[in-house]
Amino acid sequence: MQPETDAPLASLTTLRLGGPARRLHTATTTDAVLATVRAADEQGIPLLVLGGGSNLVVGDDGFPGDVLRIATTGLRVDGTDVSVEAGVPWDDVVTAAVAAGLSGIECLAGIPGSAGATPVQNVGAYGQEVAETIASVEVYDRTERAPRTLTAAECGFTYRHSVFKGDDRYVVLRVRFRLRDDAGRSAPIRYAELARTLGVEPGERVPVEAARAAVLGLRRGKGMVLDPADHDTWSAGSFFTNPILTHDAFADLTARAARHLGPDVTPPRYPSGADHVKTSAAWLIERAGFPKGYGQGRARISTKHTLALTNRGRASTEDLLSLAREVRDGVHATFGVTLINEPVLINAKL
Ligand SMILES: Cc1cc2nc3c(=O)[nH]c(=O)nc-3n(C[C@H](O)[C@H](O)[C@H](O)COP(=O)(O)OP(=O)(O)OC[C@H]3O[C@@H](n4cnc5c(N)ncnc54)[C@H](O)[C@@H]3O)c2cc1C
Repeated sequence: MQPETDAPLASLTTLRLGGPARRLHTATTTDAVLATVRAADEQGIPLLVLGGGSNLVVGDDGFPGDVLRIATTGLRVDGTDVSVEAGVPWDDVVTAAVAAGLSGIECLAGIPGSAGATPVQNVGAYGQEVAETIASVEVYDRTERAPRTLTAAECGFTYRHSVFKGDDRYVVLRVRFRLRDDAGRSAPIRYAELARTLGVEPGERVPVEAARAAVLGLRRGKGMVLDPADHDTWSAGSFFTNPILTHDAFADLTARAARHLGPDVTPPRYPSGADHVKTSAAWLIERAGFPKGYGQGRARISTKHTLALTNRGRASTEDLLSLAREVRDGVHATFGVTLINEPVLINAKL
C-alpha cells in the first residue's frame, strides 16, 4: 500500500493532538510490517511504530520520518493459549478470551489500543497486568535485523515498564498469552473497589463475564473507556504513573503531608518489593491543589479522573504539556515527589 505523505497524526491518537507525519504507512500483514521497518532502517529514516495512539503525546510539529501504523488482524484461541497479531484491538482479545471462558485478562477489558502495545508498558488495571499471562512475544529485532521470540522473562516486565518502553529496538509482531480455564470463573478478584462492586470479598472468584462487565462499568464512570462524544476520554489514560519511593523518601513525603494537610493525614502506601513503597499519584495531585476538572484552558484534568489530562476539543500539544508541567511542578513543590509521565512523548518534552 502506498504511504500517505504529510499525514495528520492527531486523528490517530486518542488525545487528538500532534502535527503530521512525513509519511504514514499502514501495514495489514506481518510481511508488510517487516518490509516497512527494513526499508526505513536501510535508508536511515526515523521510524515511529503506531498502534491505537492511546499512549502517545505527539508534538505540534509532528514526526519528521516514517510512521508505521500496525493494522494486522490475526487472533487464534487454542485451548488456553491465545495468539494474537500486534494490530488487533486489545479489547477484542479480552472479549474473545472471556467468550471462551478463559481467565487472566478479564480485568483488562476496555483498555484502548492494540494487542501489540500491551507488552510495551505492561498494561495493567484492576489487579491484573499482562506480565502475568504473556507466554512469549514475537518481535522483529532492529539491531540484529531478524525476527526473534522473547520469553516473558526476557521482556523485563515491571510496573508500567518493559524492555520495549523507551527503546525502539523491537517491533512487536505477535503476542502469545497463556490463560486459565477455571470452568468459566475469573481469576481471584484482587482490587478492593472491583470486589465491592461485585459484592464479593477480595480473593474470591466470579463468572469471568461478570468480572469483565463490572470492570467496564467502573471504567466508564471514570471516563476510561473511549467515547468520542465525551471529552473526558480525549486523553492518553493516566498521564502520570504512581510514584515508587524508597522508605526514606516515603518518610519525607509523610512529614510534608503532615505539615501541609495536618498531623493525621498520611499518604496512601502500597507494598512494592522489600525496598520500596508505591503511593498514589492521584492523591498527591488532588492534595497539591489540582482537583478533577482543574484548568481554565483547552487542556484540563478530566472531570471524572484526576490522573487523566484531557483535550477539551481545540487544545494543542503545548497546551496539554503546560498543564502537565503545572501539575508535576505543583506536586513537587508541595510534596517533594517528581511525577513521571506514563505516555510516550514523541517530538515533545515535558
Ligand atoms: C481512556 C484510556 C484509558 C487507558 N487505560 C489504561 C489502563 O487502564 N492501563 C494501562 O496500562 N494503560 C491504559 N491506557 C494507556 C494505553 O491504552 C495503553 O498503554 C495501550 O497499550 C497503548 O496501546 P496503543 O496501541 O494505543 O499504543 P500507541 O499509543 O500507539 O503506542 C504506545 C507506545 O508503544 C509503541 N508501540 C505500539 N505498538 C507497538 C508494536 N507493535 N511494537 C513495538 N512498539 C509498539 C509505540 O511506538 C509507542 O512508543 C489508557 C489509555 C486511554 C486513552
